[in-house]
Amino acid sequence: MQKFGPTAQELDVLVLGAGPAGATAAACLAPHCRVALVGGRAVHAGPAIGESLPASARTALADLGVWQIFQSEGHLPAWTRQSLWGSDQPSMQDAIFDPHGHGWHLDRPRFDAMLRTLARERGAHLTHPAEVRRLHCAPEGGRYPWHCEMKTADGPWMVRCRFVVDATGRSARVVRQAGAQLQRQDRLVCLHTWVQGGADVPAGSTLIEAAADGWWYSADLPGGTRVIAWHGDGDLASVQGCRTAGDLLERARRTQLIGRHCPPAAQALVPLRAAPANGQWPSQAAGSHWLAVGDASLAFDPLASQGLLHGLVTGQMGALVVREHLGGNMQALPAWNRQLQEVAQAYRDNRARYYAMEQRWPNEPFWQRRSAQQPAGVASAMH
Ligand SMILES: Cc1cc2nc3c(=O)[nH]c(=O)nc-3n(C[C@H](O)[C@H](O)[C@H](O)COP(=O)(O)OP(=O)(O)OC[C@H]3O[C@@H](n4cnc5c(N)ncnc54)[C@H](O)[C@@H]3O)c2cc1C
Repeated sequence: MQKFGPTAQELDVLVLGAGPAGATAAACLAPHCRVALVGGRAVHAGPAIGESLPASARTALADLGVWQIFQSEGHLPAWTRQSLWGSDQPSMQDAIFDPHGHGWHLDRPRFDAMLRTLARERGAHLTHPAEVRRLHCAPEGGRYPWHCEMKTADGPWMVRCRFVVDATGRSARVVRQAGAQLQRQDRLVCLHTWVQGGADVPAGSTLIEAAADGWWYSADLPGGTRVIAWHGDGDLASVQGCRTAGDLLERARRTQLIGRHCPPAAQALVPLRAAPANGQWPSQAAGSHWLAVGDASLAFDPLASQGLLHGLVTGQMGALVVREHLGGNMQALPAWNRQLQEVAQAYRDNRARYYAMEQRWPNEPFWQRRSAQQPAGVASAMH
């Protein structure tokens, strides 16, 4: 049941960005206050990259109350993970040995729609798509310091609100507007396409393979397709020279593991796509009358495979922090800042350790750059 219509002028919380993090935050806030969830452009108009959700996300989905629905939505179990990393010998991990069970290869549009529906059913006003025309915060502006002007399908919409949650993903709209600096870790980009899945590899498998100029990822997706993705630095000639999906598949065929998914007859189902994939974090994840969740608070290198879980967890925890702040706890936002800084530090350390495990191409720029980013102690621990 909606608590107000699209003409409402005053809200407690405006959640900008209707991806997993924003929808989760709105769903957790809606039973307690007046919330609007505002999405940017139509989310995932084309096929999504083909993300996987780790098995440990089960708890976050159960806490949200969507575990049963999630199980019935056709996401593909991720049973095995084969990797070629730091050695010429492939290693295999089977979900049977994971105490959490298996993860999933997501039907991402369905996943996002499930969370947006939850937010709406719990009472959030959903406006999607919408374009933010003007966003302005006047801290001295009394009870409703934020003013936001949007263009929606139903015409212009102006709201005043007490608090804004930045869930705008990597674009971190509110974070940047508030003057926080975005730190970009590197120039990683993901070049990808999809091919028809075949019987040549077991269903539900994930493959990861390091190469001289980056690393590869391939996974089954719901609907019988497979994603073929290469992650390299966008300023290096190797990436700049890969211009078509045909170029990408050609390169994939020269790899040891991923090549198995690209037999000579395999055709790309869509033209080559590129997505920024660099780690990124803001100097502040909360400030006067705002906080960030999901990728806006910390975007991971996809090697971590943690972005969606981070969105679910920060969506839920961020909603609690907003409620505490609106309830008068002045320590809630500074504590969120500290917590996100700790998570970002743990991510940077883990990422450095993982890249340091690959020592086969010490003279290649892609690996040299990552070895230079290792924190003290990591490089020496390898020798
Ligand atoms: C190549 C690649 C592979 C990945 N693989 C995985 C994986 O295997 N597993 C995993 O867990 N994660 C993976 N990720 C990360 C994952 O995609 C993100 O972490 C996740 O989508 C973040 O969710 P979010 O809700 O924070 O942001 P998003 O999903 O980006 O949603 C943000 C929303 O905000 C909207 N928006 C933007 N600007 C505005 C604005 N001004 N006003 C209103 N709305 C706005 C956008 O339209 C969008 O709908 C991968 C990422 C990349 C790049």
